[in-house]
Amino acid sequence: MAIDNRIFHIEMKGMVDRMEYKITLIGGDGIGPEIITQARKILDRVGEVYSHNFVYKEILMGGVSIDETGVPLTDEALKIAKDSDSVLLGAVGGNVGQSNWYSLPPHLRPEAGLLAIRKGLKLFANIRPAILFDELKGACPLKEDIIGDGFDLVVMRELTGGLYFGDRSTVTENGVRKATDTLVYDENEIRRIARRGFDIARKRRKKVCSVDKANVLDSSRLWRTVIEEVAKDYPDVELSHMLVDNCAMQLVRDPKQFDVILTENMFGDILSDEASMITGSIGMLPSASLGEKKLGLYEPSHGSAPDIAGQDKANPIATILSAAMMLRYSFDLEEEADKVEEAVRSVLKDGNRTIDIMSEGMKLVGTNEMGDLIASYI
Ligand code: NAD
Repeated sequence: MAIDNRIFHIEMKGMVDRMEYKITLIGGDGIGPEIITQARKILDRVGEVYSHNFVYKEILMGGVSIDETGVPLTDEALKIAKDSDSVLLGAVGGNVGQSNWYSLPPHLRPEAGLLAIRKGLKLFANIRPAILFDELKGACPLKEDIIGDGFDLVVMRELTGGLYFGDRSTVTENGVRKATDTLVYDENEIRRIARRGFDIARKRRKKVCSVDKANVLDSSRLWRTVIEEVAKDYPDVELSHMLVDNCAMQLVRDPKQFDVILTENMFGDILSDEASMITGSIGMLPSASLGEKKLGLYEPSHGSAPDIAGQDKANPIATILSAAMMLRYSFDLEEEADKVEEAVRSVLKDGNRTIDIMSEGMKLVGTNEMGDLIASYI
């Protein structure tokens, strides 16, 4: 029975109904292939336990694609991604000082593949959770009385509009150099990200804090107006507004107050980095980029870490938590996503640590063993 064009119910022998999900896997460069292998291990285990069929297609992107095809993402690879239900990415890029990839023009470098896939999949909303695991409180740079029982928030950033995409120019007038950037949003761009933000809040603690600079900027005043219009369709979600400068302070003063921070492109760029810093561990942070439909791109927030590639040292947890986000946001598999997140917590509680989060008295494990341990809890 077809549910939509891409997701099917199929009858398996023994009368068990199994859902099939088509996942595009992109190992990419550096530690990418190692961490994707671990995420796949977890997905396979989820499939086994919950009777889902995860069907994978691997594509090349980044430096490996340049070496193989001359470009960071081929049209064929993009088509495979477009035709799937979701995309899980490791990371792309090499050592900027050493790799030949960086002598190529910018549109042919590994990171151009990222821009091409985001554009090709029409992704406009970026979600970056900042979760402080109880077991890793020691890595958090904030004081203990601020952290309390930890925090769990997401920064939702508009990805395709605003200052980074407006007209820009640099001119010299009467011998004086002048540069201009324009910040433009139309109501449709604001409305679609607002809907996404409220939808995500519904799957969490049902609180949206919309962040703007409405005391100064016209674009922010329109942002606030449209957010309030959309909020009427979500009476079960509590909406508040905060100015961006205050939000930057509140994130370090009391991060527990936030559930979903919803904001425009540049503010989100800055606030999401600040939010991830206060968790203290880059190897733990997942992210998702979403568009109008269910298809999303899920990837860890960190890069390809060429310095530790191929040494079984990489922390696979950010990628495994990205796979959990995929289960939740693209496939609506809440229980399965919860299970993966719980498994991560359990493994940390048992004292297992990769080298980046290692502390005294804990047990050092490699990339592969960390994947095995997490899988064993599912
Ligand atoms: P990075 O995040 O790759 O590494 C920064 C530091 O964190 C390194 O010391 C690395 O060893 C460590 N680290 C990162 N992820 C880790 C993990 N999972 N486990 C353990 N340690 C980890 O950032 P960078 O060094 O600035 O960039 C390296 C390459 O990655 C560059 O080519 C850059 O362009 C690329 N990059 C790609 C993405 C992406 O694919 N989305 C994002 C950021 C950077």
